[in-house]
Amino acid sequence: MSDIATIEPSATPSTPKKSSPKASCSSTPSNSSKPNGEAINVSTPNSALHLSNQYGFPLNYNGQIQLIFGNMFAGKTSELLRRLRRYQYAQKETVLVKYINDDRYSKENVSTHDLVQQKAIPTDRLEKIASQLLGYHVIGIDEGQFFPDLVEFCEAAANGGKIVIVSALDGTFQRKQFGNVLSLVPMAESVVKLKAVCMVCGKDAAFSKRITDEQQTEVIGGSDKYIATCRKCYMTRNTPYSKKSKSVFQDSMLEEHEECSDYSEHCEIFSPQKH
Ligand SMILES: [Zn+2]
Repeated sequence: MSDIATIEPSATPSTPKKSSPKASCSSTPSNSSKPNGEAINVSTPNSALHLSNQYGFPLNYNGQIQLIFGNMFAGKTSELLRRLRRYQYAQKETVLVKYINDDRYSKENVSTHDLVQQKAIPTDRLEKIASQLLGYHVIGIDEGQFFPDLVEFCEAAANGGKIVIVSALDGTFQRKQFGNVLSLVPMAESVVKLKAVCMVCGKDAAFSKRITDEQQTEVIGGSDKYIATCRKCYMTRNTPYSKKSKSVFQDSMLEEHEECSDYSEHCEIFSPQKH
């Protein structure tokens, strides 16, 4: 696509220090994964040693975990790429990991909503690619909520001296915690929650509202399936469910604002308004 701006990182996944992929991931699922969000005990010396052996990061405890939470359209991936660039300026070797089923823009690139892209290693489970990450100083993980072994991997990598930066949705479209991602909070050195702008009223927006009738938690999409909303618009606006969701959403919003002639930033539905 001609309008895609591509960032070429100083260190891409094409130069791993070690590249023998593991095939054992499916046979050794972590016994501490609790996708329902219950506390995970990976903080003892024994568990640290276990995770070190499982993921292959030798223990030195010199790393850290940075969490970038937020709803959709909050700029989480942009913030992740910005932080990686800071380390690249200092000649740190960085690598980016993406969820393999998120191929909205590319199978091998992470992309922001404004189409800034960076090469990434795609996977559905972090343990599968851990051996490829040993030679890097900084590991960026995009859409962290989708990885079932996120907590264990991040702890193992940080205990092994890696700076791990995770961008993730903290909540689902139903405002429930996404998998076990919140279990990382007490294990992280830093946590931020970014907000978007409400696509209905223009206030700050902390929530992702699905505008299709799909009910499963993992439905990957962009503005065709989700909008960012503030609390009031999340709770009070009827979601215009439809297969052609976006246009119906637009139509319904426009019907309520007849003075609007266009679904654009100039339209009143994007302006701060009285509720
Ligand atoms: Zn709103």
